[in-house]
This record gives sequence, structure tokens and C-alpha cells, in this order.
Amino acid sequence: TDEATLARRARSYSPVQGHYFEDPPRIERGWREHLIDVDGRHYLDMVNNVTVLGHGHPAVARAAERQWRLLNTNSRFHYSAVAELSERLLETLPTGAFDAVLLVNSGTEAVDLALRLARAFSGRPDVACVAESYHGWSLAADAVSTSTSDNPRAGETRPSWVHVLDAPNAYRGRHRGTAAGAAYARDAISRLGDWAASGTPIGTFIAEPRNGNAGGIAVPPGYLGAVYDAVRAGGGVVVSDEVQVGYGRQGEVFWGFEEHAVVPDIVTMAKAMGDGHPIGAVITRGEIVDALADQGTVFSSAGGSTLSARIGVTVLDVLLEEDLPGNARRVGELLRSGLIALAEQHPLIGAVHGRGLYLGVELVRDPVTREPADTETRIVCDRLRDLGVIEQPTGDRGNVLKVKPPMCFSAASAAFFLRALDIALAELE
Ligand code: PMP
Repeated sequence: TDEATLARRARSYSPVQGHYFEDPPRIERGWREHLIDVDGRHYLDMVNNVTVLGHGHPAVARAAERQWRLLNTNSRFHYSAVAELSERLLETLPTGAFDAVLLVNSGTEAVDLALRLARAFSGRPDVACVAESYHGWSLAADAVSTSTSDNPRAGETRPSWVHVLDAPNAYRGRHRGTAAGAAYARDAISRLGDWAASGTPIGTFIAEPRNGNAGGIAVPPGYLGAVYDAVRAGGGVVVSDEVQVGYGRQGEVFWGFEEHAVVPDIVTMAKAMGDGHPIGAVITRGEIVDALADQGTVFSSAGGSTLSARIGVTVLDVLLEEDLPGNARRVGELLRSGLIALAEQHPLIGAVHGRGLYLGVELVRDPVTREPADTETRIVCDRLRDLGVIEQPTGDRGNVLKVKPPMCFSAASAAFFLRALDIALAELE
């Protein structure tokens, strides 16, 4: 029974790696954006931004099996898939801006390595990051993660080399409206100046081009360009963490930084790259990688293994062949307009953030004060589960519904989700 399996898990596996549901569904199979539990119940998967091609894609299964039978070994050997994947990644990026790829196993590792590279290249240990963001769980990635949704005690043990800028959130933050980007940038530049004057000039700036953990909240226009310029003028390096937002999930752009018309020095990527298989990448310039030359080689036993590189190539091929960024744009627009229509009937919906299949529905108790409706968000998620939809709250206030399904998400699934959400909200009101 489910209970027996859960009890076994409780006795043998650390509770630190938790579930969202107290009584988690026991999923046995997946197909496209659908999950099927041990009793044969179907659910719509609204929260899986790892399996971008959809669960159980046959092309990935075939490529993985073939490569596994042929050869899977550590990254010390030469094999074509590593070069192929690196070339293919560089082709998706602005011409001439990047020429060095390093493969790792996860987003956390990509961020950790990016921080190490930026520190070596800039010669400066201090890092600036923004509030309410998440970059991973290793010692260094956790140090620059400021979101309290994954770690309620974030910040209590923050090392002195980490400096936190305000979250540039034009819906809820200090600056709102169209001039918010310039205002947040002014604040950030003034703080960068203060840190330099006090002997801790920033060597690395790391941020997402859209805050994933907060529910796809836009970084207001003008902010990243101005902050990138200021960090670079002070001798620092800028990192765009694309682990959630990258790979065409937003539809219009393949990489999140493109919507800000900026080019970072280092890009970190993972999640979507392997469609669920562990793989991540740091993409940068040769001169930045060279800064680590006197620190030995960068070696990861399985990072860029034969298998993960082959899977990486296959995933990118399928993603582009099936035009999943185009699907994310089209179906994302259906979802967005449907959610905006629901917002007119349901006062609980305070805002619909994001675009493409990178959306967040922020629930509030009062449209003027924007008081976060966290309890209501949990009730909605529980009810959606009964209705056959796996949903989850996100954000530091626990009041944003995460809408980041596999990128093959269909128009019929969008209609099903909107109907279920309509029912759940109507019952609550
Ligand atoms: N950066 C961002 C923006 C993320 O969203 C995540 C994962 N949620 C990570 C880094 C860490 O990636 P991983 O879980 O693969 O270690």
C-alpha cells in the first residue's frame, strides 16, 4: 500500500528531501504532460520543468538505451557527443559571445562552478545576488540563494562575501510601475559603489533574468543592462542563471537574458538539458576558463559522460525539431489569456506573472493591499489534486501557483487546467 511504502521511506530516507503533499501521490508512469499513479488515476503535471519534452519521449529512451549498450564511461575519454553538444549549445547563443562549454550534472553544480570561475577571473571574492532567488543547494550555491521558500533560514549563516540586492519585483517591491527597472538599478548601483568604497568590490553578479522561484516574475526592463554595465565597470563578471528560464520555455526567446538585450559572461544551465536525466552546463569564454588553469583541471566523473552528452544532443534535437519553444509560446498565450479571464471572475487572483510555459498565478486576499493568500493557495492545490491536476505553491510567501508544465503541453490540457482552477477558486470563494 502507499502507507507501507511511505513508512519504509520514512525509516530509510532523509526527510530533509521532502514532498509537497503530506500524502504524496504514488506516481508510477508518465506520458507527455500526464502522470498516472499506481491505481491508474491520471493527473496533469503542471510543475515539471525538467521533463521538457514530456514524460517518456521515445527518442530519448532509444538514444539512451543505444548509448548505454555501446559505451558509458567517465568524462576522461574523448567521444563525439561532448563536442556535438557543446557546438549545438553555442549555436543557440549570440554569435561570438561564447566559446567554452563545461558539462556538469546539475544546476547546483553549474552555479557552483560559475561562481568559482568568476572569482578566479575577476580576482575578487565578493558576490552580489538578488533577494528571493534560488540558485542551488551546495555550500556556495546555497550561500547566494536568498529565497526562504526552499530554506526558511536562508541568510542566517550567509558568508561575508555574499551581498544581497533588493528583489527587482515591480508587483510587490519598493518600486512599482514602468519606471521600476531604472529605480531598482539606481539602488543597486549605489550599493555596488558602497561595497567598493568599503573595500569589498563585487567580482560576480548572479541573477536570473526572470525570477523562477517567485513564479516567473519579470525583472523590470532596464535593470539588468544597467547593473551588468556597473558590475563590469567595477571589474566584475556577470552570470545569468538560466537553469529554469532557459531553453525556450518562455516561447519568444531561447535564453532568458535575450529579452533584456544583454549578454552575460557566464550562462548556467541544467534541468531541461537532459529531459530528466542529470546534466548541466556552464557556458562562457575561453579567457574566463583559463583563469582556473593554475588550479588544476575541472573534473567531474559523470559530468559530460558519454550517456549524458548523448542524451543532451538528443533532447536539443527533439526540442527544436518539434518546435517546443513555439508550442510554449502558443499554448502559453492560451493559458495566460485564460488566466487573465479567470482573474476577472475571481478576486483571489492578484496577478498573472510570466510568459510562455513559465507562468505564476499570484493569489491575494485583497487586490489593493496584495496580502498573500498562502492558506488559500494550499487549499487550491489540494482541490486541484482531487480534480486530477498536480499543482504546487511557490514563492517566499507561498501564494503563487506554479505553471511550468512540460513544453509539449497541449491546448486541450490548458483548457482542462483552466476549468479545474475555475472550479477550485469558485468553491473557495
Ligand atoms: N538555479 C535555478 C534558477 C534553479 O531553479 C535551480 C533548481 N530549482 C537550480 C539553480 C539548481 O538546480 P538543480 O536542482 O539541478 O541542482
